[in-house]
Amino acid sequence: MSKKVAVITGAGSGIGKATADKFTEGGFRVVLADVDETRGKEVEQELKEKRGEVIFVKTDVSSYEQVQHLVDKTVEVYGTIDVMFNNAGIGDVGSILEPDLDMYHKTIEVNQHGVSYGIFAASKKMVELKVEGVIINTASVFGYMASRGTFAYQASKGAVRMMTQTAALELGEYGIRVVGIAPGGVDTPIIQGYKDMGALESMKRKHIRGELLQPEEVAGVAYMLTSPDAKAVNGSVVMADDGYASFR
Ligand code: NAD
Repeated sequence: MSKKVAVITGAGSGIGKATADKFTEGGFRVVLADVDETRGKEVEQELKEKRGEVIFVKTDVSSYEQVQHLVDKTVEVYGTIDVMFNNAGIGDVGSILEPDLDMYHKTIEVNQHGVSYGIFAASKKMVELKVEGVIINTASVFGYMASRGTFAYQASKGAVRMMTQTAALELGEYGIRVVGIAPGGVDTPIIQGYKDMGALESMKRKHIRGELLQPEEVAGVAYMLTSPDAKAVNGSVVMADDGYASFR
């Protein structure tokens, strides 16, 4: 049987990079997508040396054309698309009373529209190719819980949660599963803003282990969700948060 093909956005760093490593280890051919060409190419080189079948496609997920090109390129090179991991995201820090509108729009464009575009482009191709694929969207505990200073981020992640549910409902008849992952605090560059706000220590304490998660731990959950054994998980967002959203 030929190897399955996964597209991972935001693959140049953090959770996306760790997931690319996990997926190639698990036998996937992986298409790495990131807006940062330097980091994307570094990861491509690293994984090629380790295991082989990966390509990098520079993609800004806030552009529908670029996401469509990403999916088309995937099928052109590897012949199919089995998994779409809509993971790319950015953090925002801002005040409601003095909103930075550019930051607000950018956050929604990348974190919310970027996931929508991935769902649109991947599902269309999966239906066309009759692939019963899996679409995974990275949400966040902040899609469930309010937090000060990250208004646009919360809004975008709340949207990802509802988009996951709705897409699962609509795409189920084609055998496509749509699931989400809601990480707690993960030790990646995106939480720099939280560090700058002096909120990192209190964030750490909200985890049962009292520390940030590692990106590999979220990658493990993403990998698990691609398995046919996870078929019953559909339309829901799995918490990968070490208890962050469950306890006070
Ligand atoms: P990260 O900063 O390490 O990685 C994010 C990657 O996305 C970067 O490589 C970046 O270049 C890429 N990216 C940014 N904008 C892009 C765009 N427009 N198009 C394509 N790629 C783009 O952060 P991470 O923690 O690995 O974040 C991955 C996902 O996990 C994000 O959606 C984030 O919101 C989510 N998340 C992270 C945490 C955390 O604490 N780290 C918690 C919950 C959810």
